[in-house]
Amino acid sequence: MHLEPLRQWRCDSCGHPIESPRQGTVTYRYVADVEPHRRHVDFRIVHNGNVGNGVCQGDAKADIPLEDLAGERGILGLLGRQSSDPSWAEVVRRIVVPHYEEARVWFDDARRDGWEVIEDKLTKDKLVAIIDAFTR
Ligand SMILES: [Zn+2]
Repeated sequence: MHLEPLRQWRCDSCGHPIESPRQGTVTYRYVADVEPHRRHVDFRIVHNGNVGNGVCQGDAKADIPLEDLAGERGILGLLGRQSSDPSWAEVVRRIVVPHYEEARVWFDDARRDGWEVIEDKLTKDKLVAIIDAFTR
């Protein structure tokens, strides 16, 4: 099935679709006693407490609701937790780049087939092309 760009995501916990922003949240962990750029780690997009009694969110207490990320408040919050942990940049791409979320599951297949897949250069057109080529 297709995901609606910037409105639906695949849950990092259960793998099922998060069908609207009100069903999901961005979770992360806070690590004390390290350099500031390493304090926020393990960013994930998961179902929130509105789905399955919150089993996907588990005990991850630190979160930014996907509903907030539609506006400046959430984006500012995400930027304020900027981290050198690769999961941070990946979650930012998933939140702000149209079609990234749907295409990302095909990146390994695309690379195997000779596509140039460089996360910093994946424009909307290229992402749509990957989705069209690999969605069966
Ligand atoms: Zn889930």
